[in-house]
Amino acid sequence: MSTAAAFEVKGWCPGVLTPMPSGDGLLVRIRPWGGAFTAAQAAGLAEIAMRLGNGHIDLTRRANLQIRGLRDEALDDLRDALDRLGLLDPDAATEAARNVMVGPLAGTDVRALAGSLIRAIASDRRLALPAKFGWLVEGDGPLSIVGERADVALWVRGDSVALRLHGDWLGVVPRDQAIKAAIGLALGERPLLSAMNELPVAGARCLGAVSGFFGVGAPFGRLEAAQLRTVATTPGISELRLSPWRALYLDAQPADLAGLIVDEADPLLRIEACPGAPACSSSTVDTRRDARRLAAHGFDGTIHLSGCAKGCARSTPADLTLVGDRGRYGVVHNGTTRDPIEKFVEPQSL
Ligand code: SF4
Repeated sequence: MSTAAAFEVKGWCPGVLTPMPSGDGLLVRIRPWGGAFTAAQAAGLAEIAMRLGNGHIDLTRRANLQIRGLRDEALDDLRDALDRLGLLDPDAATEAARNVMVGPLAGTDVRALAGSLIRAIASDRRLALPAKFGWLVEGDGPLSIVGERADVALWVRGDSVALRLHGDWLGVVPRDQAIKAAIGLALGERPLLSAMNELPVAGARCLGAVSGFFGVGAPFGRLEAAQLRTVATTPGISELRLSPWRALYLDAQPADLAGLIVDEADPLLRIEACPGAPACSSSTVDTRRDARRLAAHGFDGTIHLSGCAKGCARSTPADLTLVGDRGRYGVVHNGTTRDPIEKFVEPQSL
């Protein structure tokens, strides 16, 4: 069986070299190197989104960033601009393979290992993996992303690294053998591993000041270009680290939060909503407008508004799931967009 066939094929991901059509034009996904953009890169991305896109930027659940609303004729300009920022891959295969999440507060050692992994993935031509094949590199700490989904995960602990394939922690290797062993797992090999004495503890999003960084949340993962520019050009901020929680971690506190969220109790953070209409042509409902209306009313628990049954914004159950269907919402309690609809409601009644 080929390497690719050994893993579930899950479709394709948009990239700078493989733009995806959407309801508001083309969108491109930009993968940071090592989980972070420099402030100069982030400011450049904001400028690109304003000049070439429609100014809307998405923070994705795989800790990447998407620029929306691009036209075909803007793509050459886009790629030149990204090349100047050091964010253009040499080819689409390298770009797609560079799907590595790094903990937002990861220390120097963890980030160094992630950098080695990224370089190894980019140069190892034996790796012909499915487009959505994902990697994760993390250490310990209050914001550890080690509990997030990934096909291969590396948990760094001093001189050793534990390896996880899909959901199963398999064992530990010395740090200097970790890259080879992780790539071996992706190739379907079974490297020699020592037993694990303990399992990692997953962290969770925390906003505001945390361990020398400052977390800011973006409602529904939507960032406007002006917000990104404000944050990226704040004196003292040199780096913006991404997370799978639709939050950015800055290495200094901005004086102007630009409307971003720092209060974990903000109800908008408990609502997931995909772009919906008009941004996505699969939707007949304006999910984010309706989500803001719901948030203003107040509610208990978690809510997921989805423009259609695909459920891009959330795959796990929510207390209340609303699934767009021909201008209405199907209602599901304690489930996902794939569960049976209990009844339909009009958007105006939310
Ligand atoms: S869930 Fe449906 S409507 Fe929402 S972004 Fe995905 S495909 Fe579009």
